[in-house]
Amino acid sequence: MDKQPLTFDMIFDQVPIGMAISLSAYPKRSDEAVVRINSMFEQITGRTKEELISLGWAKITHPDDLEEDLKNFWKLQSGEINIYSMDKRYIKPDGTIVWVHMIVAPIVLSNEQQLNHICLIKDITERKAIEEALNESERSKSVFLSHLPGLAYRCNNDPDWTMKYVSKGCFNLTGYPPESLLYNRDLSYNDLIAPEYRKAVWDGWEQTLAARQPFKSEYEIITATGERKWVLELGQGIYNEQGEIEALEGIILDISDRKAIENTLKYNNEHDRWTGLYNRDYLVSLLEKDIKLKKKTKKALIGINLSMVQLLTINYGFQYSQSLIKKAAEALSQYCSDKRILFQPRENRFIFYFSDYRDKSELVEFCHVIVETLGSLFVPERIGGGIGVVEIEQKQNEVDIERVLRKLLIASEKCVNLFGKDLEICFYDEELEALVNRERYIVEALNAIAMDEHTNDELFLQYQPIINLRTGSIFGFEALARLRTEKLGLVSPLEFIPIAEKTKLILSIGEKVIIEAFRFLNKLKECGYDGIGVSINISVIQLLKPDFISRLFELMSGMQINPKNISIEITESVFVSDFDNINNVIKELRKAGFHIAIDDFGTGYSSLAREKELKADCMKIDKHFVDDLLNEDLKKAITCDIISMAHKLGHYTIAEGVEHDIQLRYLIEHNCDKIQGYLISKPLDEKEALEFLKKHDKNMTYSLTSNPRSV
Ligand code: C2E
Ligand code: CA
Ligand code: CA
Repeated sequence: MDKQPLTFDMIFDQVPIGMAISLSAYPKRSDEAVVRINSMFEQITGRTKEELISLGWAKITHPDDLEEDLKNFWKLQSGEINIYSMDKRYIKPDGTIVWVHMIVAPIVLSNEQQLNHICLIKDITERKAIEEALNESERSKSVFLSHLPGLAYRCNNDPDWTMKYVSKGCFNLTGYPPESLLYNRDLSYNDLIAPEYRKAVWDGWEQTLAARQPFKSEYEIITATGERKWVLELGQGIYNEQGEIEALEGIILDISDRKAIENTLKYNNEHDRWTGLYNRDYLVSLLEKDIKLKKKTKKALIGINLSMVQLLTINYGFQYSQSLIKKAAEALSQYCSDKRILFQPRENRFIFYFSDYRDKSELVEFCHVIVETLGSLFVPERIGGGIGVVEIEQKQNEVDIERVLRKLLIASEKCVNLFGKDLEICFYDEELEALVNRERYIVEALNAIAMDEHTNDELFLQYQPIINLRTGSIFGFEALARLRTEKLGLVSPLEFIPIAEKTKLILSIGEKVIIEAFRFLNKLKECGYDGIGVSINISVIQLLKPDFISRLFELMSGMQINPKNISIEITESVFVSDFDNINNVIKELRKAGFHIAIDDFGTGYSSLAREKELKADCMKIDKHFVDDLLNEDLKKAITCDIISMAHKLGHYTIAEGVEHDIQLRYLIEHNCDKIQGYLISKPLDEKEALEFLKKHDKNMTYSLTSNPRSV
């Protein structure tokens, strides 16, 4: 390369720095001849030399920087300072701004030339922009961090989570000022984490760091006041160029409010409001989970059905029965364990979900414990309950949970229906399944009858004679309903009437019975037996139907029935639940001329005091007291007391289920008015009943002194 001598002009025009040399001691207009401006200066300011000279530097300086510039300039001119530098802005012709770093100093080049000063400028617009952006981001970061509803941190990846930066929000969140956490001055962040979560937080970080993923976790901290707070931590690892972890950064937010709402929602979704036990939804979700996960373990549900508590609600009110249920919940809770979880799927029902048991005998044993426990609460109240057990058979992955729960209900319900006042245990097995199917067939048959679909006589009546003991004559017949279907054969009313009551089908079945009994009464009249009556059993559901009386009257007048020939039998037990209402209906029926008989007297636990108020004509002494007459020690029998009590109350008596002479003699001796039973006759078909009457007619009166069976 040629060694070319450097001339001033060459340097002046090629340096990457804007240079201007001025003669003028004024910032305004200068004289061109004495001013030198290099091309970099023109480039930076975006103006030609001519423009620069004619405008002067003050005019193109940004107003915000001018004052400082001028101040410095005058100081330089006055000799107070001999150099100054500053960052300043020029305004380009298009209005944009250019930032420069400027140095101004007096200059003397030669004696002839009266030079004044030199101005060197360097374009720093880019740097300024970066600086500005940085400042802005710092500023917004600090605004953000100080307003964060929680704390922002930078910490080491160590077991203390040693904090290197903690934002102001620390105080609000934790109750400790940020400094106390910095470098574990007073305590470490790990100390703040509730102990049971510490391992999970550590493991969580370890996993996410290994996978280089962001960290997210919810846990509880314990604040300076000892209060627990739910927090959400969002963080990430900061890595150096070698990929090593340099620090962890993130934010920790207070989510106590959200957690509180979430927890209440979850609690309400999973628990019974009154007892606090888990509810049905939670049972279903737990079962679904366990069926998938714990395929091999034995699982069973033990359902405790306390639906009879409703009876107490009727007598003593809701509060009373509810407090009893609460006591039951508490008593049962003591048997909860990992293997036995207690649920309350409905108001009066409990379920133990029993898993991992040895065999059926362990279930039975546990059921007996339940019986003992609840017995002390419910036996004194004279209500029973049912304990149903279903073992969950898991042959496939899928188990129909709804079906299992239905089976459980069926099993527990069965006990309630079968045993009434005790707490009994019933496993859901094939036998029960058959029973359930049978019940379904009965409902189907009753339904068809109620809908009048069946023309063949599936529902029919039999008539059992009632004999007047004083005269020996036939007093009347009790109409007894019968059901016979192809599939089921003959079904006892003891079986189908309760089903008809439960399904409310008794309303239409009952009406058919009434019509049929009325028809029989008219048939008797037709045959000349004017004075013979017919008793009809009426269920309480029929009786309490608001239009029962009007409908009865309608049928009566339609079929021209004289009410004095009709006796209405109502079982005593129903008075326990609704004495006043039933008594009112009875009063009205009696006013219309019907006879009223209290059926099964002595079994219904009605109070003697109220018995007096009962507006009945007759008491049918239950077979139980007639059976008692077969016992050796007749002196102990209270049947005579029942008869005399009924008489004192102004009722006549009919003894039911008389099968033996010895019973008959006792009843005659103790003034029982009428009897009914196999000794006289079994229930008879209509034709047989008429024949019975005819036969009896011949003899005029029933010979009660001789063996009636010989008649
Ligand atoms: P209940 O009203 O107490 O009827 C008397 C039951 O005792 C009848 O049973 C009758 O056949 C039976 N019985 C009569 N004499 C004797 C005897 O000497 N020995 C024995 N062991 N039993 C005797 P049934 O017909 O099976 O009726 C059972 C119950 O079904 C009736 O008891 C009554 O509560 C109900 N029931 C029958 N028909 C109707 C009906 O049309 N409507 C309603 N609501 N219930 C009915
Ligand atoms: Ca009866
Ligand atoms: Ca009876």
